[in-house]
Amino acid sequence: MPTFKKLDDLGDIAGKVALVRVDFNLPMQDGAVTEDTRVRAAAPTILELSARGAKVLLLAHFGRPKGARVPDQSLSLVLGAVEKVLGKEVMFVPEVAGDVVKQAVGILGPGDIALLENTRFWPGEEKNDPELVKAIAANADFYVNDAFSAAHRAHATTEGLAHVLPAYAGRSMQAELEALEKALGNPVKPVAAVVGGAKVSSKLDVLKHLVSRVDHLIIGGGMANTFLAANGIDVGKSLCEHDLADTAREILANADASGCIVHLPYEVVVSKEFAANPPSLRTCNVHEVAADEMILDVGPAAVEALADALKTCRTLVWNGPLGAFETPPFDAATVALAKIAAALTADGSLVSVAGGGDTVAALHHAGVAQDFSYISTAGGAFLEWMEGRELPGVKALEV
Ligand code: ADP
Ligand code: MG
Repeated sequence: MPTFKKLDDLGDIAGKVALVRVDFNLPMQDGAVTEDTRVRAAAPTILELSARGAKVLLLAHFGRPKGARVPDQSLSLVLGAVEKVLGKEVMFVPEVAGDVVKQAVGILGPGDIALLENTRFWPGEEKNDPELVKAIAANADFYVNDAFSAAHRAHATTEGLAHVLPAYAGRSMQAELEALEKALGNPVKPVAAVVGGAKVSSKLDVLKHLVSRVDHLIIGGGMANTFLAANGIDVGKSLCEHDLADTAREILANADASGCIVHLPYEVVVSKEFAANPPSLRTCNVHEVAADEMILDVGPAAVEALADALKTCRTLVWNGPLGAFETPPFDAATVALAKIAAALTADGSLVSVAGGGDTVAALHHAGVAQDFSYISTAGGAFLEWMEGRELPGVKALEV
């Protein structure tokens, strides 16, 4: 694993100013934060720096304001949720650089915390503009990146700052990297990957490289439909990207060449309408899907076959649910396989790692999230890590 500096490598930081990049891109509904997992993930780093006497300036993006001040994407909206998790008062500063931040630093005492405005209000953030990087860095002594989930992007506050200030990985970043390295850096074979979900086009790219790194590739969800169609199977009205058939066939050929066994569902759960427990619900062979039906889950017999394959494996990485798990009974395959993975993990025979917003939600729904070896907070970054790509935000921390 590449080496990077950690909070343990910081000397005396009492009175020093820390810029800490966190992921506070929290889900909101009607102006209220609905889920604070990401704040809880960053809390150990923030509280440790505060306890050691640093003045802590928090940097984060929120939504996609595309370089303009959008009032309903101000980070001030999450201030209350952040204070609640930290159990401390946090000052809000409506800038990321310049005199306003400088004055705030003057007011803060050792151990105090401030939340700066949404970094994406400035066009230089996503452009990784050296001028913006310099201006932000001017008010601080060192930089800590605790946002693994944003590390696949080379932005001013996820990458640029690491080049102009002494840079350290925060505790959550460190935990993500160590856990992923343990599971995937030198994984105990055989390795299985489960890839499902709906973002077919963005995930297909990942599979091209993944097949050479895993022994079993289990494909479910909308992803499976694209592969089935590429194999000439009629998938009816299913979510499917027909124009990616060539890519799908290329991936199957790559898998063949590298000895990776691909598991596509041979039995599926279908219905004519997408609703909970629809009257047209039935389970059938993949060759029997009617033109007016949709594949919405993997069938129970096919899940048993997947379970048998998983039992021969020692490492599992999972991104993407096997079916439309939010709508019963299309959660059945995902829940069943998740429970098997959890049991194998409890037996000590499997290291299981999962990532992705919906995947983690599905594992919580199955009641087994805490039984996995590791759950990543990241979606996109987790996938790129799985693929073996170098993440710019991580690379910049390397010493
Ligand atoms: P993640 O957030 O874990 O990366 P995705 O966002 O790619 O996962 O995909 C999750 C979504 O995929 C879920 O909303 C789920 O309902 C949907 N999905 C899974 N299988 C199917 C299917 N067969 N047809 C339609 N949608 C599906
Ligand atoms: Mg998703």
